[in-house]
Amino acid sequence: MSLDVLVDKVLMHPRPWILTGAGISTESGIPDFRSADGLWEKVDPIENFSTWALYNNPEGFYTHGIPLFKQVLEANPNLGHIILGELQTKRFFGPIITQNVDSLHQKGGAKWVYEIHGHLRTATCISCHKTVVTLDELFKLVEDKEIPPKCQCGGILKPDVILFGDTMPEDFQDAIRLIRSYRTTDNMIITIGSSLTVSPINTFPSEFDSLAIINKSVTILDRDAEIIIKGSAGAIMQKIRARLVELNNGEELVSLPAGFLPGRLTTIILDLWESFLTKKKTFNRGEQLNKIMADLLLVEKLFLNYPRMDKRSGIEKYMINSNLIKLQKIKNEMIEMRGNAKNTNGYMPRSINDIINSHYKALIIYTRQYNSEPEIVKELVLQIVGFIGLYKHMEILDMQEFENSFVDELYDKILKITNKYELDIDMVKALDNY
Ligand code: NAD
Repeated sequence: MSLDVLVDKVLMHPRPWILTGAGISTESGIPDFRSADGLWEKVDPIENFSTWALYNNPEGFYTHGIPLFKQVLEANPNLGHIILGELQTKRFFGPIITQNVDSLHQKGGAKWVYEIHGHLRTATCISCHKTVVTLDELFKLVEDKEIPPKCQCGGILKPDVILFGDTMPEDFQDAIRLIRSYRTTDNMIITIGSSLTVSPINTFPSEFDSLAIINKSVTILDRDAEIIIKGSAGAIMQKIRARLVELNNGEELVSLPAGFLPGRLTTIILDLWESFLTKKKTFNRGEQLNKIMADLLLVEKLFLNYPRMDKRSGIEKYMINSNLIKLQKIKNEMIEMRGNAKNTNGYMPRSINDIINSHYKALIIYTRQYNSEPEIVKELVLQIVGFIGLYKHMEILDMQEFENSFVDELYDKILKITNKYELDIDMVKALDNY
């Protein structure tokens, strides 16, 4: 039951963020820290895995560290990582923030990952910050009894992971900035396989309106979650995938169009309607109601005449039709209150402008990240251009002019970014991809 609710919620919130912890990798053979048989039962973390340990107890750090580092590096992604990677690539999920240092999300196919506790791909000199070696090179130095292993400048070589006592890496601030730029759009986070005991990571969910938790045992944030699914990450991800395939009429999943967000459009109406109902004392209520009705009728018109319906995947059709049903339910409640709408302008152009604007902000913030990837820049551009196409389509449906100078200016700015990154994008197709 709650799994279907979770899938419905995912489809209503375009591309929820994902936050993972050690629990998603236990099925790849890497122990977590806090389970009954977790690593902390065997090794004292501060004695052996802190910056203190690196300086004062390097023998302990490397004696306990190297077997664990090797185990992590040799591990393979499990179905949890692989399905997350697939669902991110196909635009069902958004960026992944991980506390893990095992690179298994990337090995499982995810392209957009924030490693807020670092990674074990390399080690860097903590003095000159110039020397970067692979972990194999680091192991070799330790085997040759160079403990702690050192750079030519005399500084200690430290794996690029965050130890107890370290400050957070750039990925942490990057992820926070990006989440905040998206306020008006991507407002759901799903945590998977984390006890959520580690601070400040466990503050991430408070940045979102809606939290779902997938974990084997209780977590610190269970009280704040709308949906909790108990069980193992791999099995639950398989069930989520199976449910999506079922909604796709049993066919293999294909990518959703970049500018496809029927659930978000419905949420705009739902939010307007709920706030109208709760603010009983505002004046001009009649006019307010007319505006919301105008928005609703416009979105209903879009859903009833969604372009290229015959070519759409089963899940796109499901998303359009289920949102149409939700809208019509609100419409009936509205008619009951006040009869049919008068001819008026609604809020929809402004709301979609806000969505486009927040995505543009996110794109700019993303391009400033130290490790920005052209592939993700391209994805963000495709989303914005898809939303612009949708905006223009809704203008035609509405039969009255929207305020267009903003989107036109923005389109020109986007063209500059595509040129700068030499992105290979067919803009005509991208404008149609909603
Ligand atoms: P944690 O050990 O505190 O919590 C893991 C949680 O996952 C537990 O609540 C456990 O019940 C649950 N769990 C275990 N196996 C599961 C499964 N198969 N499916 C679903 N849930 C499962 O881990 P944390 O919250 O990530 O914090 C630990 C810290 O240690 C992290 O900050 C991380 O940097 C580090 N760590 C990383 C790795 C790794 O890279 N794979 C492994 C261990 C620890």
